[in-house]
Amino acid sequence: MNQLFIKGKVVIIGAGPGDPELLTVKGMRFLQQANVVLTDRLVSPDIIKNYVSPGAEIVYVGKQCRKGNSTPQATINELMVIYAKEGKLVVRLKGGDVSIFSNILDELETLVQHQIPYEIVPGVTAALGAAAYAGMPLTARHHATAVRFLTAYKSDVVSAAYWKELAQTDDTLVFYMSSETLADVVNHLTANGISDKKLLAIVEQATTPSQKIYTSSLYEYKKKFTGKTFFSPSLVIIGKVVALHQQFEWFRPQQHSEYFQSTYETNTNKDLALTA
Ligand code: SAH
Repeated sequence: MNQLFIKGKVVIIGAGPGDPELLTVKGMRFLQQANVVLTDRLVSPDIIKNYVSPGAEIVYVGKQCRKGNSTPQATINELMVIYAKEGKLVVRLKGGDVSIFSNILDELETLVQHQIPYEIVPGVTAALGAAAYAGMPLTARHHATAVRFLTAYKSDVVSAAYWKELAQTDDTLVFYMSSETLADVVNHLTANGISDKKLLAIVEQATTPSQKIYTSSLYEYKKKFTGKTFFSPSLVIIGKVVALHQQFEWFRPQQHSEYFQSTYETNTNKDLALTA
């Protein structure tokens, strides 16, 4: 294998949260030159359709938490190595930004271990896309002086002491991968006495033609949303800034369907050694 290693390279690119035009110019330029694109599920299908060169091989390496349809990380790592060692320009396309709640560390370690050159191109993370398209500036003057990006995808990732701190801070809280555990999040914050001036927003499919936003006080959440399931992906924003949405909402799409593709099968013709 090693003697075939000519000048392959991997570029890890953040595709942005949904709206294909939120891809960076640098990301677009690499996609136009790529020989292979390894893409996540939460990437706009229009980015693949419009910006990837027609000759490129597109491999889906989607993941979806707890749905059991994920491509194992070891497969993704192996595919990057195989294609790069064939001398190809490989784009590893991730939803949102590459460094926020992603497995980039595994991928970087793999690339360094195999001495494969790489570049990293950032993207617009879901929190920033959702804040912009919801008209909800995350650190608006007099509303919040800081913002925290969090996850509570399992109930024990946040400690009891930290829930207390989260209930008391005036920072805006943004929870990724937490819509399925939202009742828990709300329970922890209300049990720790979060102010009723702070509101909660659930932003489904932010920045896409299917974006939908629900808002509520934390103390009314149970009454309004018990039993409701939210479209994937969705993001939870908690704080005083949520009240600004009513005044500054500008993006009102009418569609309500699933925006992101739901193919999870890894469609590669490569023989994978590490994973069956
Ligand atoms: N790297 C990504 C986050 C990956 S974790 C980023 O920077 O945005 C996946 C989580 O991101 C989802 O569970 C959801 O909480 C959030 N997310 C990603 N895209 C989203 C979108 N268009 N709308 C709402 N939430 C989104």
